[in-house]
Amino acid sequence: MPYNYLHVVRDAWSAPQMRRVPAKLTVALCAVAIVALVAYREVKRTAEREVEYWDWLSMGTLAELQTRDHSIARAEAQIMKDAFSEVEEALSVFRDGSDLSRLVADGTITVSSTSHLARVLNFALKVAEGSGGAFDPTVAPLMEAWGFRGLKVSDPPSATSISNILANSVGWRRVEVADSGDGRTVIASGGTRLDLGGIAKGYAIDVAYERLRDFGGENFLINLGGNIRVSGTNGKGGGGWTVAMRNPLGATGNLQYLPRQLRSGEAVATSGSYERFIEINGKRYSHIIDPRTGMPVDNEQLASTTVIAPTAIESDAYSTTLFVLGEEEGRRFIDGKDGCQAFFIGKNAIGLDALRRVEALCALGQRNALTPGAHTAAKWIADELAAIGLEPEIDEFNDPAPDGSERVFRNVLATARGTCPGRVLLLSHYDTKSGISDDFTGANDGGSSTGLLLALAKHLAVCPAAPYVTFAFLDGEECVRSYGEHDGLHGSRHLAKRLRGEGAALDAVILLDMIGDRDLTLTLPRNGDAELKRRFLSAADQVGRRGAVRLLQYDMVDDHQPFIDAGYKAIDIIDFEYGSLPGLNDYWHTPADTPDKLSAESLQAVGDIVLHMIDGH
Ligand code: FAD
Ligand code: MG
Repeated sequence: MPYNYLHVVRDAWSAPQMRRVPAKLTVALCAVAIVALVAYREVKRTAEREVEYWDWLSMGTLAELQTRDHSIARAEAQIMKDAFSEVEEALSVFRDGSDLSRLVADGTITVSSTSHLARVLNFALKVAEGSGGAFDPTVAPLMEAWGFRGLKVSDPPSATSISNILANSVGWRRVEVADSGDGRTVIASGGTRLDLGGIAKGYAIDVAYERLRDFGGENFLINLGGNIRVSGTNGKGGGGWTVAMRNPLGATGNLQYLPRQLRSGEAVATSGSYERFIEINGKRYSHIIDPRTGMPVDNEQLASTTVIAPTAIESDAYSTTLFVLGEEEGRRFIDGKDGCQAFFIGKNAIGLDALRRVEALCALGQRNALTPGAHTAAKWIADELAAIGLEPEIDEFNDPAPDGSERVFRNVLATARGTCPGRVLLLSHYDTKSGISDDFTGANDGGSSTGLLLALAKHLAVCPAAPYVTFAFLDGEECVRSYGEHDGLHGSRHLAKRLRGEGAALDAVILLDMIGDRDLTLTLPRNGDAELKRRFLSAADQVGRRGAVRLLQYDMVDDHQPFIDAGYKAIDIIDFEYGSLPGLNDYWHTPADTPDKLSAESLQAVGDIVLHMIDGH
């Protein structure tokens, strides 16, 4: 759903129970006359689950009511719809007759002090002042210059035209709001034009919220394009409403819970550049503009900002503000605002997390199988999984070592119990190759996939909109002399046999190996399931990495093979071009395999591919 990136967790997350507006339809509807489509419709009555859903289009986006107030549900939907229409009629820049458009046209307007325009503008100017102009309701001329208001632009505005706009027509201090003493407010726009797109949806939510409460509504959730406010509880435990946001960078439909439920009365909103943007000469520009520079926010680190606040006007305005300010300044801004809590989602959150974990693992030292180092690593992985909130299992097993003696190996396992159909096994080996050098810690070989699996475990642990995913960290992958019955692949042979013995049904076994190289080339060995390879290619395409994938014409001995032998669908994702020059593999199994050769971007890309692959399994 392109405009609705805050989703409400519905029922048990199983896809058939979730009513979705097809993306294409939404886009088409938004592109045409949305105003004509305000007629609401009842989507679904789920008496047994006690939540009733209504939705319609308003202000260019999806409006939604979820309510447990069954006897008055229809009236609630009507009240909410009327409230939104009323606010839209007053505040839309898209409507000629709105108070806002009249102010823009005439340069001045006198309205009641309790009018929507006076109330929103007063708050908007307060936020503008408090944020040092990062939030500014006078961004309209910049929005137009960048082509966001209908007029297509073929080139970005020049530096001169931006400075002219900034000097002559942008700046919240130009706007004058004066109380005329008789309950009316006189507003003068001071030669600038106003755009309340960053705040008015939140305000509309508050208007609807108050009216629903006055009407006797108790347990409901209202949503306008991702601006949400809740009352009471959804009746499913926890005493509030559980809300999820779409992970901006992960797979489509990959939702992530807000870290906590919304309590009665609370609101939440998200701002980001990934849903609404404009493309000029092939480059994407965010619809959130930094009024201090006139440039669309191009935040290297941030994908989105989310704010929970006591009212929706606050969460809406503040989430936009924080996106402009960035994390550091943003945290200072939000600190001390009563009842407000902010969440910053980083662009490479999974990749950065993975890299941090690779570094920590390497810092532990070598992890050669059958040495204390491997045991330490297994315990460390288990501790990390426990800290993530999963229940780790260290599976100790005996296997003959190359010299024929029975020795103890350790696989570490944990499962994220997503509720979508499908069961996936993600594999990485964590042991290091022996006999290379004293300081060899296999940053890419054994480290990168272990770090990424842990980061994915953390991600999926709180994301029920995923299949059931088991993470397996395998011991003894590296051979001592040469691969054979008693040398190498100890962990994978043991696990494949164990799962087969338990009759475990797996839809996909995905092995990651050496996937952190800055210069990422993903190779797929010939021995691998054809359907999974197709899935991989299409996922790589979706995350823009198809060009970095090569299909190998030869087999590779790796941890996926025992699963293929056991009859499972398995694939090996490995970057076997890890070296000082493109095409070379001269860092592999050498002391040069160190964390500085890796990048968060590569780890993120592979993480995104895996998430796409398992999505909808
Ligand atoms: P937010 O982060 O909440 O806000 C971003 C928006 O705020 C930008 O789109 C811009 O409008 C404004 N903004 C950008 N930079 C700043 C800044 N630094 N400080 C303050 N504000 C900034 N869309 C349609 O397609 N058709 C419609 O008919 C339509 N009608 C609307 C009527 C109303 C009353 C409102 C409030 C919105 C309407 N919209 C419509 C949507 C509007 O154009 C914006 O796209 C939308 O409000 C963006 O909200 P958001 O939650 O995605 O992002
Ligand atoms: Mg906003």
